[in-house]
Amino acid sequence: MSRLILVLGDQLTRNLSALEDLGAGDVVLMAEVMEEASYVPHHPKKIAFLFAAMRKFAAGLREEGVEVRYVTLDDSENSGSITGELLRAAEAYGTDEVIVTQPGEWRLIEALDDCPLRLTQRPDTRFVAKRSEFETWAEGRSELRMEWFYREMRKKTGLLMDGDDPAGGQWNFDHDNRKANPGEIAYGGPMQFTPDEITEDVLDLVEARFGDNFGDLRPFWFATDQGEARRALTRFVKEALPLFGDYQDAMLDEEAFLYHGIIGLYLNAGLLEPLEVCRAAEEAYRSGDAPINAVEGFIRQIIGWREFIRGIYFLQGPDYAQRNELGHGRSLPDFYWGAETKMRCISRTVAQTRENAYAHHIQRLMVTGNFALLAGIEPQQVQHWYMSVYADAYEWVMSANVIGMSQFADGGLMASKPYVSSGNYIAKMSDYCKGCAYDVKTKVGEGACPFNLLYWAFLDRHRERFERNPRMAQMYATFDRMDEEKREAVLSEAETFLNRMAQGALV
Ligand code: SF4
Repeated sequence: MSRLILVLGDQLTRNLSALEDLGAGDVVLMAEVMEEASYVPHHPKKIAFLFAAMRKFAAGLREEGVEVRYVTLDDSENSGSITGELLRAAEAYGTDEVIVTQPGEWRLIEALDDCPLRLTQRPDTRFVAKRSEFETWAEGRSELRMEWFYREMRKKTGLLMDGDDPAGGQWNFDHDNRKANPGEIAYGGPMQFTPDEITEDVLDLVEARFGDNFGDLRPFWFATDQGEARRALTRFVKEALPLFGDYQDAMLDEEAFLYHGIIGLYLNAGLLEPLEVCRAAEEAYRSGDAPINAVEGFIRQIIGWREFIRGIYFLQGPDYAQRNELGHGRSLPDFYWGAETKMRCISRTVAQTRENAYAHHIQRLMVTGNFALLAGIEPQQVQHWYMSVYADAYEWVMSANVIGMSQFADGGLMASKPYVSSGNYIAKMSDYCKGCAYDVKTKVGEGACPFNLLYWAFLDRHRERFERNPRMAQMYATFDRMDEEKREAVLSEAETFLNRMAQGALV
């Protein structure tokens, strides 16, 4: 009797555990279903990317002689859900045995657990650390810090290791990776691909079905198969990696990518694998084509941060994404969805997000994330937004990043202090403030940058929780040194700003 091998849209690699013993008579099932395409209003580019990449992966399997049952979104028999498609396929092929690599979201893991078929969920082996390995590492630790886990992964993989020692004499070169905005960029951005016939068909479908979602579908230029993704990686390593480290935290009004490569998009869908990406970067260092600070910073993102946040997601369980330790309850303002705002940093980040389904980590953490935290937006609405607008977003990657790191909604499990800053940080790292209606140097009164007002209001609101945090003592000392009249004016203007924002006024 044949087995059904289910391959999900973000599992597009031939090395998938579900495919490792693919045999004669097995049928691979792939399905474009409405439930997955609409559980949040995904950016149209994300849906198109995944559908096009799925269709090409299925075509590749067929070329190998594998029997593939591929259900398109517009198939009139499409049941609309993964489990519905499993049941239809099971009936069509007269089997009840299903193999799948475990999905990256509790929502889908639980749906598959409830599916009335003989279904086996195999571990996802596309990561450097197994889930059980992370659990063992985390056991008994009072604080889970990425840096210690990252060093374990360096030793495990041998990446950037000279014997037992880290290459370059230190584990982490983050201090060298904080250069402010470079003014001009000597890199043409990530490699762009002209859509072929398969992708054009998908674009038409997505336009018809998801054209009202936030985000520009065209121009569409993402890689949609492994070969293209590898070419994009090669270009990134050659042309961007040497300066990636220096400017990875910088932001420019007119440059969406700087020296970033959108490699995460391809990694998270399976088109690239973490070790091949890291080895390509290491090779650039070993051959003298890229400096250690750039290569170490890049590799840390992948075998450190990416693995760590996945570990946290699974360790914490399905309820993690619902946490709201700071009790924030404001609604996400419409300007996150493109409504007008006078805050240049936010309007540019949102505009680039709309265009590309991408913004880099500092735009996400220190502009949109920072503002949401300062303004007290409900973390689940923030998470919903990130899940919706970014092409690389899946719950396993977003929960610890947004709920934990960005919004401090897990109470400090992920971060030893909240990632909040006044407008100073944005002014230092970007050129946004030059074109802004607000003045970043004005702390209170006419034209004061909202980040400046909200920063102090945040500290005041959460004084009880954070005042004794040694990493925040300096912030409170500065606040407390302000004369009382100024303090009151700041808090009152912050309150007025938030009330106006809640009423939908142009802020
Ligand atoms: Fe953003 Fe404030 Fe700078 Fe305007 S002045 S761009 S609101 S940080």
